Amino acid sequence: MNAYDIIVIGGGVVGTSIARELSRYKLRIGLLEKEEELAFGVSKSNSGIIHPGTQNPTDSLKGKLCVQGNKLTRKICKELGVVFKEVGELIVAFDDSGMEELMRLKKEGEELGVPKLEIVDSAWLKKNEPNLSDKAAGALYAPTAGIISPYRFAYDLGENAAKNGVEIHLLTEVQNINLIPENSTAEKYRFEVSTSKGSFRARYLINAAGLFADEISKMAGIDNFKITPRKGEEFLLDKNDEHMTDHLLFPLPTKTSKGVLVIKTSDGNPMIGPTAKEVEDKEDLSTTDEGLEKVLSSVRKMIPTINSNDIIAYFAGLRPASGHDFIVRYEDKVPGLINVAGIQSPGLTAAPAIALMVRDLLKKNGLTLRRKIFFHRHRRKTVHLFAVPLSETEKLVKKDAAYGDIVCRCEMVSAKEVTDAIARGAKTLDGIKFRTRAQAGRCHGGFCTTRLLRILADETGKKVIDITKRGPGSEIVKKDRRDV
Ligand SMILES: Cc1cc2nc3c(=O)[nH]c(=O)nc-3n(C[C@H](O)[C@H](O)[C@H](O)COP(=O)(O)OP(=O)(O)OC[C@H]3O[C@@H](n4cnc5c(N)ncnc54)[C@H](O)[C@@H]3O)c2cc1C
Repeated sequence: MNAYDIIVIGGGVVGTSIARELSRYKLRIGLLEKEEELAFGVSKSNSGIIHPGTQNPTDSLKGKLCVQGNKLTRKICKELGVVFKEVGELIVAFDDSGMEELMRLKKEGEELGVPKLEIVDSAWLKKNEPNLSDKAAGALYAPTAGIISPYRFAYDLGENAAKNGVEIHLLTEVQNINLIPENSTAEKYRFEVSTSKGSFRARYLINAAGLFADEISKMAGIDNFKITPRKGEEFLLDKNDEHMTDHLLFPLPTKTSKGVLVIKTSDGNPMIGPTAKEVEDKEDLSTTDEGLEKVLSSVRKMIPTINSNDIIAYFAGLRPASGHDFIVRYEDKVPGLINVAGIQSPGLTAAPAIALMVRDLLKKNGLTLRRKIFFHRHRRKTVHLFAVPLSETEKLVKKDAAYGDIVCRCEMVSAKEVTDAIARGAKTLDGIKFRTRAQAGRCHGGFCTTRLLRILADETGKKVIDITKRGPGSEIVKKDRRDV
């Protein structure tokens, strides 16, 4: 049986951040993830914004962790070679009462410690955000807002955690948790975790299971919160619109969300969304005409020229909400259990700060933390042809001809990038897409999918019929094509 000091349940951005942080210490750590790859839960479908900390109540945990997370994310991105672009955000107001609300948001942000907040007027906006509606009266400018690729961040955190000794178990669904009576084993394991891949033991259990954190907590004996999914539909625009805005654009926030945004993304394509609607089903990732209409009518108040013909893709994500704030707590009633739940937005931003809070809770509750003599802090930056100048591409092709073998023409992704992605852990077509952008362009993989299937089969030794889009049950080629 696998036995660990700590088991982290959930391989999203929160679980991988926690695993990487704890991998600095002399501990045996296991991470259990039910999907075939990391970051296939909420962490794959969000806006990729590293929020500055505005729009959070001053006494909230999420506000505090967001401000701290914004600083930490920059540092970790540098260490792991993840691109972080500090683009800044503008919360836009259209009338006097809106301007008053901006003053309130500024004061609230400053109390939380958000740096460099400034109210800018319509003249500033005309100069610095020329496509913004001329009806805009002013905005709250938060220059420290940034953008990253959320899934690449989680993959690179996971990869670095594994390099530092964390054992990652994929396709390992936690199905039951038994509490081991005290003193019944010499090593004082408190939990026996039954999964689809056998049993695991742990002294400490960290529940970072996103939408399913309430169910995991209940298995361990704590049944006092419920996760209510709040759906957000988002629409991606063509890369030609990359410079439509120079900042992230927000309307005034509503009671339940930050509103519908115009989003710059780290790979270039702007995005519009998300909606915010409570749903029952934790698997409901459908998009709707109603969502599209809501998003278009909302964003056109800020950028009137947005054209629906420029939408090339859409998706929905589910915020794992439980009330209005995050839950990060050591459960005294079940010693050894830490619940990390209700991590709705800004959970991507806050993840590194959540990891530090979990470390401190473990220390406070009896875990001895001894630093490893050598911790692999850095990771070599992944090469993306779409992000390097042509002169650099030429050098790369001279070094390895596979950089010149372009597999995805829409996004300029080479065979070398695809095989590198597979070597680093991609097992599915979506895993390749999130890591490299192959299939993420206008043709949605029309040109490259067959080639990608072949490369994945060759590199992994699998048959093409066994290659999936996102794990078991999503095979691409019909099983009766035995000849491939
Ligand atoms: C539309 C939308 C936009 C957003 N935009 C932003 C943004 O711009 N900035 C920001 O800061 N935040 C944003 N967020 C919030 C952010 O995406 C989440 O807070 C964050 O991704 C949560 O990460 P997580 O690791 O807790 O959850 P997840 O990524 O869902 O990870 C949990 C993992 O647990 C696994 N799991 C579940 N049950 C089990 C089980 N029984 N056994 C094993 N594994 C299990 C799941 O498969 C999953 O991989 C947004 C969210 C949405 C939905």
